[in-house]
Amino acid sequence: MGDPVAHSLSPAIHNAAFAETGLDWCCVALPVPAGRALDALIGIRALGLRGASVTMPHKAAVIDGLDDVSHTARTLGSVNCIVAEDGARLRGENTDGDGFVRGLAEDFGISPQGRSCAVLGAGGAARAVVHALAAAGAAEVVVLNRTAARAREAAQLAGSVGRVGTPADLEGVEVVVNATPVGMAGLVGAGPLEDGELPLDPGLLGPGQVVAELVYHPPSTPLMGAAAARGARTANGVSMLVQQAAVAFELWTGHEAPVQAMRSAADAALAPGSDDPRNC
Ligand code: NAP
Repeated sequence: MGDPVAHSLSPAIHNAAFAETGLDWCCVALPVPAGRALDALIGIRALGLRGASVTMPHKAAVIDGLDDVSHTARTLGSVNCIVAEDGARLRGENTDGDGFVRGLAEDFGISPQGRSCAVLGAGGAARAVVHALAAAGAAEVVVLNRTAARAREAAQLAGSVGRVGTPADLEGVEVVVNATPVGMAGLVGAGPLEDGELPLDPGLLGPGQVVAELVYHPPSTPLMGAAAARGARTANGVSMLVQQAAVAFELWTGHEAPVQAMRSAADAALAPGSDDPRNC
């Protein structure tokens, strides 16, 4: 549920998972206008749906209508997954952070444990990543954001290992995460990065670092190209997209997610010529 949802990749990813596991379930994109989130929750209960993925503009608005909200989702103030339990009891979860950490393992074979990390951005995705990196044992989580007050709020989500940083911090960190939309197809540049190309000076990057981009459309961003040219390992946001869906699938069904089938569905939906995928 969201608005817009017509171009969401979630139905393709989840339906591939249901088919692969032989579950007679299906996922459909339901447009729910802003202001109607609580009505939609009544609909979920009445219709006996097993769960929902939640996207903009409802991630915060649904919280007041849920029966339970996980600690992570409440801390983030954001629910991206609803699980219907015991008939109609609805629990809110946020799977983005766990999805990101699983994606790091998939793309780079690493865990955040003991690592220094920098997160660019302080919006919904950045907050989930900052929180998850700290929860997974990162030694340090440095937040860089255009708006300083939001950087401070996001850094607090990492507790004692979180702090607001400056671009100079990027030189020393092992994991750099771009959680701004800079590089995303269709983004109109704004603010200090009006060229709309790079969220940081790539001269600060180098070998030994991994650069995890949350953007997945286009599949390679200017940041990924510049970081790779300087010897860093890079990956786009498809793994996080698929892995956050995998966590949701496991919460809904109790089955292990068929990640490979879900990844293939995402790659097919994002392939050139498919119907205008979006980062949503
Ligand atoms: P959001 O809540 O709107 O936050 C965007 C953040 O980026 C804000 O901190 C904002 O700074 C910063 N920003 C925006 N435009 C900028 C610019 N031109 N220059 C510098 N900073 C800029 O967005 P979001 O939901 O967190 O999503 C961020 C990105 O992650 C999007 O591209 C989204 O598609 C992607 N994403 C991917 C996944 C995945 O599964 N791969 C999941 C979620 C999101 P201010 O605070 O100063 O406004």
